[in-house]
Amino acid sequence: MGSLNFDHPPEFFPNESPLDPNEFRRQGHIIVDFIADYYENIEKYPVLSQVEPGYLGKRLPKNAPDYPEPIETILQDVQDHIVPGLTHWQSPNFFAYFPANGSIAGFIGEMLATGFNVVGFNWVASPAASELESIVMDWLGQLLCLPNSFLFSGGGGGVIQGTTCDAILCTLVAARDQMLRRIGRENIGKLVVYCSDQTHSAFQKASQIAGIHPRNFRAIKASISTSFALSPESLRSTICSDLQDGLIPLYLCATVGTTSTAVVDPLEPLCNVTKDYGIWVHIDAAYAGSACICPEFRHFLDGVEGASSFSFNAHKWLFTMLDCCCLWVKDPNALIKSLSTNPEFLRNNATDSKQVVDYKDWQIALSRRFRAMKLWLVLRSYGVEKLRNLLRSHVQMAERFEELLATDKRFEIVVPRIFSLVCFRVSPSAISTELLKHENNINEINKKLLESINASGSMHITHTVVDGMFMLRFAVGATLTEEKHIIMASKVVKEHADAILTF
Ligand SMILES: *Cc1c(COP(=O)(O)O)cnc(C)c1O
Repeated sequence: MGSLNFDHPPEFFPNESPLDPNEFRRQGHIIVDFIADYYENIEKYPVLSQVEPGYLGKRLPKNAPDYPEPIETILQDVQDHIVPGLTHWQSPNFFAYFPANGSIAGFIGEMLATGFNVVGFNWVASPAASELESIVMDWLGQLLCLPNSFLFSGGGGGVIQGTTCDAILCTLVAARDQMLRRIGRENIGKLVVYCSDQTHSAFQKASQIAGIHPRNFRAIKASISTSFALSPESLRSTICSDLQDGLIPLYLCATVGTTSTAVVDPLEPLCNVTKDYGIWVHIDAAYAGSACICPEFRHFLDGVEGASSFSFNAHKWLFTMLDCCCLWVKDPNALIKSLSTNPEFLRNNATDSKQVVDYKDWQIALSRRFRAMKLWLVLRSYGVEKLRNLLRSHVQMAERFEELLATDKRFEIVVPRIFSLVCFRVSPSAISTELLKHENNINEINKKLLESINASGSMHITHTVVDGMFMLRFAVGATLTEEKHIIMASKVVKEHADAILTF
């Protein structure tokens, strides 16, 4: 292949446009059926993909096809070769990491955004994309009871980023430049950033990219005595010692719902410390932020008014497909000063009028997707009350799982559960001395339990290590999960423990 074969010319040059409406309708229906079937049959697949590295290269041709292939053939390959290499995040038996919970509304919003495929880098490039984004971000900000200063109506504003990594990087760069304008660019090596050792690695990455010297990255140890939350006293003493060394405190990344164990840093006391030093505080609520639309969880955001920026991932636990990180800032100008450019080819009257939001100046990339559409669809299709009840049901199911484990004295809950994440392990007291002789230690046994559960394919969970302690994380939040899956999951855990603990 590769050279023209004049025996079959018509197939080689199809007249049909790649965006032919009728063909789109036909293939679109096939795909919708395919995905509906996938959801219907999702429990038949092992939740964690069981393929070996490099499996796909052995199954697919070495080159792209020269000529068109029918969608039916391609979908058969998706079924035969792609699906086995998927870890099924939408499975009701997916309890790993944090959820990436989807929904019909989120899906349809994606379809609309993809269908329009507008590139709304500035207002004029698609006014609806920019304006809808500002509107849904104000809606969502109100749902979270963010102070008015974070909303457009109060002089702040919200933007949808791809991920938390982007949100942290953009705000860190804004804070850095604001400071450097005051103290001079040559002092960048003196800037210090703060977090706890439980803060997501996104912050370390952002600091590296933003040019913070690695020796000025303070990951303050969060110990068991503070329930793995960042201690305001430790923060203050670290800041003071940095000041004594002639360094300049810049930025604190506090977390509501840490990735390892969903611990909440005490925002108000932390902000009381930082305000004395003019530090930019970012609150990363990637996972737990969604829960804070429920009044009973909102208090975890108390103190947010002392922060400069706040973000959470609607693509984790708010039924909005990846990617959708919602970021609010009190001072959009700080972002814009760092991130705006004004090339001639993008100049327009709307921008010059200063009456519009040009979101290209609020993010790293120029081009951007119409992400507000799916968030709007989710908020409208379900309404706030239903969203709250869905989140509550996840928390209740986590509670149920915790109760079911508690009936078995071999297990212990390691970190008190707040949201829908249960951190547990086989307790040292459950292990016979004989078994301990053969296994290095309690961590090894828990690791074996994790691997055995995941290899079974019946459910998927992941782990973390905090303070040297290996624990299993059971995160509820997949949209299709029901109580029966929770009951089954607790049985699976116990059965695998039976096999491992019997010597
Ligand atoms: C998941 C998570 C992140 C990373 O989110 P991305 O959107 O993938 O960058 C950051 N912080 C916390 C607390 C998280 O749970």
